[in-house]
Amino acid sequence: MEEKKEIRQISELGEFGLIDHLTSDLKTINEDIVKSVGDDAAVYDCGEMCNLITTDLLVEGVHFNLIYTPLKHLGYKAVAVNLSDLYAMNAKPKYITVSIAISNKFSVNAIEDLYSGIKLACQRYNVDLIGGDTTSSLSGLFINITAIGEAKKEDIVYRGGASKNELICVSGDLGAAYLGLQLLEREKKMFLSDTSIQPKLDGYEYIVERQLKPEPRRDIINRLKEAGIKPTSMIDISDGLSSELIHLCKNSNLGCKVFEDKIPINPQSSAASEMFRLDPSLPAMNGGEDYELLFTVPIDKKEDIEKMEDVTIIGYMCDEKEGKTFVPRNGQELELKAQGWNPLD
Ligand code: ADP
Ligand code: MG
Repeated sequence: MEEKKEIRQISELGEFGLIDHLTSDLKTINEDIVKSVGDDAAVYDCGEMCNLITTDLLVEGVHFNLIYTPLKHLGYKAVAVNLSDLYAMNAKPKYITVSIAISNKFSVNAIEDLYSGIKLACQRYNVDLIGGDTTSSLSGLFINITAIGEAKKEDIVYRGGASKNELICVSGDLGAAYLGLQLLEREKKMFLSDTSIQPKLDGYEYIVERQLKPEPRRDIINRLKEAGIKPTSMIDISDGLSSELIHLCKNSNLGCKVFEDKIPINPQSSAASEMFRLDPSLPAMNGGEDYELLFTVPIDKKEDIEKMEDVTIIGYMCDEKEGKTFVPRNGQELELKAQGWNPLD
C-alpha cells in the first residue's frame, strides 16, 4: 500500500525554507555553471567572461497597489530591483526580458505608461530589452523581469566570501522605503474613506520616492572599483538589513556584530518613524525594499571606506560561535533576528 504523504503547510518553512526544500537536491548538469541557486544571481562561465542571471516577479496586491503606484514608476522599479541583484554580484547589467500578465481593465495607454518606466530604466542603466512574454490574467497585473549581466570571473562577489574581523558596510540609508509604504497606505485608507481628501505627502517626498522609485546602486559599485576595493561578500537589501546580514553570515559561516548607532537613517525616516510611533531602528533593520548594498571589506580598507561618500561601516564579522549580535544604544546586546516581512506570510 502506498504510504500517505503528510500535508505540510508552506508557513512551516517560510520563503527561504521553501526555496531550500525545493532546490537542495538539485544537481547541476552543465559544467559551465559557477553558481546555481543561493545568491543574488546565478553565474555561468562563457570563456572570457561570465554571464549572470536573476529574475523577479511583482504581483499586484502583493508587491504593489495601483491606487498609489503610477505605472511608469512601477515599470522603472521592476527593472531597478533586478539590476540591483546584478550589482550585488559586482556585475554589469546588459539585457532584460519582460513578461506581463494583464487583464482587460488595462488600456493600451496604461501599458504604455508601464513600458515608459521600463524603457527609462533601460536607458539610464544601458540595458537592452530583448524579449519577454505577454499573456492575460484574471487577477490583476503580474510583471516578471529577468536581467542578464556579465562580469569577469575574478570580479564576481558572492554572499559567502566574508572572513572574520572584516568590516560590514552599507550604502545609502535604511528604512525609508518601508516608511514610504506606510505613509502611502495611510493616505490610501484616508482617501478610500473620503475621496475628497487629497494625500498629504509634503515633507515626506524622499521616503515616498524611495518606495516608488528605488535606484540600483551602480554608483557605489563604480566608486568601489575606482578606489580599488573589491568587497569580499555582498548582497542587496531587499528584505531588510537583519535578513540580509543573516544571509551573509550563513553563507560565509560566520557571526556578526552590528551597532545601532552606526545604522544610517535619513532625517525624513526619523521624522516619519516618530509620526508612526516607531523606533527608527525597526524599519531600518527590518523594513524591506531599500535596495542598498550590504558588503564586507578587509579591515585594512577602513580609511578608504570612511572617506567614501554614502557608505557607512556598521559593524564587523566575527566567529560563527559568537553569534549574530545587534548592539543597541543602551549596550544590552540582542541576538539578530530577521523579523522582516515574509512575502509568504
Ligand atoms: P533575492 O532577494 O536576491 O531576489 P531570493 O531570496 O528571491 O533572492 O532568492 C534566493 C535564491 O533562491 C536565488 O538564487 C533565487 O534564484 C532562488 N530561487 C528563488 N525562488 C526560486 C524557485 N522558485 N525555484 C528555484 N530557485 C529559486
Ligand atoms: Mg538580492
